[in-house]
Amino acid sequence: MQTGNAPIEGSQCWMGGAARPELVMERGEGCRLFDAEGNAYLDFVGGWAVNALGHAHPALTAALKAQAERLVHCSPGFWNRPALELARLLCELTGMERVFLGCTGAEANECAIKLARLHGKLRLGGAHRILLSREGFHGRTLATMAATGKEAWRGLFGPDLTGFVHLPYGDLAAFEAAVGPGTCAVMLEPIQGEAGVVPATREFLHGLRGLCDRHGLLLIADEVQTGLGRTGSWTVTGSMGVRPDILTLGKGLGGGVPVSACLCRREHDLFSPGDQGGTFTYHPLGAAAALAVLGEIHSRDLLGNVRARGEQIGQILSDLAARFGLRNLRGSGLLRAFDLPAPDGQALVVQARDEGLLLNSPRPCVIRLMPPLTVSGAEVEEFAGRLARSLEAMG
Ligand SMILES: *Cc1c(COP(=O)(O)O)cnc(C)c1O
Repeated sequence: MQTGNAPIEGSQCWMGGAARPELVMERGEGCRLFDAEGNAYLDFVGGWAVNALGHAHPALTAALKAQAERLVHCSPGFWNRPALELARLLCELTGMERVFLGCTGAEANECAIKLARLHGKLRLGGAHRILLSREGFHGRTLATMAATGKEAWRGLFGPDLTGFVHLPYGDLAAFEAAVGPGTCAVMLEPIQGEAGVVPATREFLHGLRGLCDRHGLLLIADEVQTGLGRTGSWTVTGSMGVRPDILTLGKGLGGGVPVSACLCRREHDLFSPGDQGGTFTYHPLGAAAALAVLGEIHSRDLLGNVRARGEQIGQILSDLAARFGLRNLRGSGLLRAFDLPAPDGQALVVQARDEGLLLNSPRPCVIRLMPPLTVSGAEVEEFAGRLARSLEAMG
């Protein structure tokens, strides 16, 4: 599977020098990716929980083609049909009333942070502090990096944006104790994704809702990873009966096309004209992609498939757990993770790739599974065989 000694042409031109395997992904089909040498991989990374419909899904391809033939871009200075329709549909699905459409999860979260700060400025005497979770992840812009609860990121690019307070995830008392006159919002993921799939309890989420209500704070749910079917419901907060004031979506929304959303209740749309925008916001092509994804989730009962395939994966992992010492099986739907007995995550990722299975290891001990929402029962069985062989080969 190696391409030999010659470095991949152009690879030295990508910034940052991140470690990548010596292969070029060339095309995809359903749950499978193919590299330039024609090797096939069962894709349980799913573009990092993005390829909701798998690769080259006919409905998504057709929607992109049709929209590209009509209108790719017209500037957000004009209304466009797909973005109007998407905004309406997202409000209907989430119970929210206002939508900003961007391209990335970080951009949606920037929007949420701006709204929270406006809320503090206009209604709470200038309060601007946001309470967040340790190990929470919100993106890679300067503000969303400051919001992210990774100790290693503190001060990485000089002075951080201030006003972000990180507290232990799940510790309601700590959040309660941290609220002061300077606090304007609470922001968190209902299941921490990058931290290794760490779910919040119902009590914690409801407790935060109550805390925000008592103090006039905004509750911001970052469902960029968990939203839109990933866990078997449209949103995790919705399935838990918690209504946030602001909700962000991304990743799977466009099925691989960059589109994200920040939604809020009507009374929290505090932007004045010019406060928020961007060249590629409310993008027709992104919106058309998202409409195709939402249409497929709806018409093919993909939420049902996510729950069924999720249970199937859960059962498989329980069966493998005793044999290979897997621990802390967790997650729901098709966002799942488990701990390895040793910090061998990257080694297992490499081993599995040789077995034709793509896995993700967000932490040294953790393996995370994020296959497309369309994954079939037979593909899950195939996954089981390949994972077992990979674990066996690890010894
Ligand atoms: C991936 C992710 C983001 C950032 O999204 P980008 O599209 O990479 O900017 C934000 N929040 C959560 C919970 C995520 O998983």
